[in-house]
Amino acid sequence: MSAQIMLEDMARKYAILAVRADKEGKVEDAINYYKKAIEVLSQIIVLYPESVARTAYEQMINEYKKRISYLEKILPASVNSEDNERNVEDVIITEKPKITFNDIVGLEDVKEALREAIIYPTKRPDLFPLGWPRGILLYGPPGCGKTMIAAAVANEIDSIFIQLDAASVMSKWLGEAEKNVANIFKMAREESKKQNKPAIIFIDELDALLGVYSTEVGGEARVRNQFLKEMDGLLDKSENYRVYVIGATNKPWRLDEPFLRRFQKRIYVKLPDYEQRLALFKYYVSKIKLANDVSLEELARLTEGYTASDIRDIVQAAHIKVVKEMFKNNLSEPRPITMQDFKEILKVRMPSVNPELIKAYEAWTEKFKAL
Ligand code: ADP
Repeated sequence: MSAQIMLEDMARKYAILAVRADKEGKVEDAINYYKKAIEVLSQIIVLYPESVARTAYEQMINEYKKRISYLEKILPASVNSEDNERNVEDVIITEKPKITFNDIVGLEDVKEALREAIIYPTKRPDLFPLGWPRGILLYGPPGCGKTMIAAAVANEIDSIFIQLDAASVMSKWLGEAEKNVANIFKMAREESKKQNKPAIIFIDELDALLGVYSTEVGGEARVRNQFLKEMDGLLDKSENYRVYVIGATNKPWRLDEPFLRRFQKRIYVKLPDYEQRLALFKYYVSKIKLANDVSLEELARLTEGYTASDIRDIVQAAHIKVVKEMFKNNLSEPRPITMQDFKEILKVRMPSVNPELIKAYEAWTEKFKAL
């Protein structure tokens, strides 16, 4: 089976599951499956832009998107009927990802800043009598390692890791969001005490907590105030809790002054430079067969402006290309990937971040960076 057929098959399966869940009134499941189907269809379009079925895929994506936005509107009724604990469990992930600093290519300055901010103080609190920051903001373009690095910090200090996505918190919890924000901090404090370990609350898309996505009038202000109150609680010296909040955002300019004040440490996670891109290519091709003509240096030069996850996708697309050929030609092994393969992929795979956005990060850094 070719890689494209495999992906089409996958998209079809998700679509069937989505429609079934939709018919059975399982709104959340339906939304999740529609999203997965969209993800796979979008991947097919990226990998096979010339596909004859492209227009059909695009139409399907549009239809699923429309259905999702309709379902999201009717979601509160089903969510609110559940109890609070379930709600909290729905949007947080407590399983610790097995990422360490060694799995993160480059970003040495970021790793160093986090060692100073969290790792050393947690290991030797006696050396930091004046305290240390509890709120850390990671900002920068998407796909450059913010989530990875937060997970790695949790592993370095063997902490409890509670991950939540602020955008889904706001859209799912609606009227319950404020109470659930309090519950999450409570859970972090209690677990930290019980297990005698630090706890990291990682909030992705932190800017969403300010409420731009919330549909409940006035709700956003309450969530926001609750969050600010909880952040202040972290600094309460009478309580010996070791709870940290790491927030990540691609849109730091959406955060206002009271928010920023609670994140004493603000770290810019940049687009990879030439050296880091080269290291990323080396890392991602390590398990792949390359032809002799492939120059990773040239690839690193050609990918200025690309994110780390773009680079991973490029290598993955090159790999899928030769695997697909292998199936088509009935071979037993994929052929080595050539420079030409990479160039063909680069022609259709633009950087996912535009230069204007990078300028905006730099301007924001000038004003608000706190390392
Ligand atoms: P962000 O949180 O900044 O949007 P992620 O940490 O979720 O980015 O990165 C998305 C994916 O891109 C990761 O799962 C990983 O595969 C790849 N990636 C990003 N940054 C790096 C990095 N510095 N080293 C290795 N892989 C990376």
